[in-house]
Amino acid sequence: MNVIDPVTLPDYIQSIIFRKSRAMAILPIIELPDPRLRLVSQPVSEIDASVRKLMDDMLETMYDAPGIGLAAIQVAVPKRVLVIDVAKEEEEPRPLCVANPEIVWSSEEKNVYQEGCLSIPEYYEDVERPEKVRVRYLDRDGKVKEIEADGLLSTCFQHEIDHLNGVLFIDHLSRLKRERVTKKFVKAARLRGDDE
Ligand SMILES: [Zn+2]
Repeated sequence: MNVIDPVTLPDYIQSIIFRKSRAMAILPIIELPDPRLRLVSQPVSEIDASVRKLMDDMLETMYDAPGIGLAAIQVAVPKRVLVIDVAKEEEEPRPLCVANPEIVWSSEEKNVYQEGCLSIPEYYEDVERPEKVRVRYLDRDGKVKEIEADGLLSTCFQHEIDHLNGVLFIDHLSRLKRERVTKKFVKAARLRGDDE
């Protein structure tokens, strides 16, 4: 639905609308039991326009979902790219665009967070992971960055980096829980008539 006729708007606003609608896309998120979620994603060789476009589309897709992290394989792109924003709703957005991340250090201390995943909708379970991690990655400008993350950001980095290795948060649960949730999603996919 359009309430304003864009032709009557000043040029600069028209160009913003045009750029926004042209530049961003909400991508479909693949879900369990899609076998692509088990792929090991490949590093990107450089941060070019296509990688930046992927990052922008992933951010748009993540905010729309809404979620706090998204790995490229969740939008069916097997590249080592992820986006994260753990800012609370009332805070300013703090988007992180990450390529080729590596955990270079993790703490002995552990932390438990209730995790969920946009590829495993409406399922939440406690997962124990290292409390802090140091991550080295390339940002949206191709610069090498190193970040020491704790709390939710640490958990989010670990969850998303797992995705790049074909690992899901349910792999950190007991076999019984994992099989139960997998069965549920396999059945739901069959009812929808999916091929998997
Ligand atoms: Zn996930």
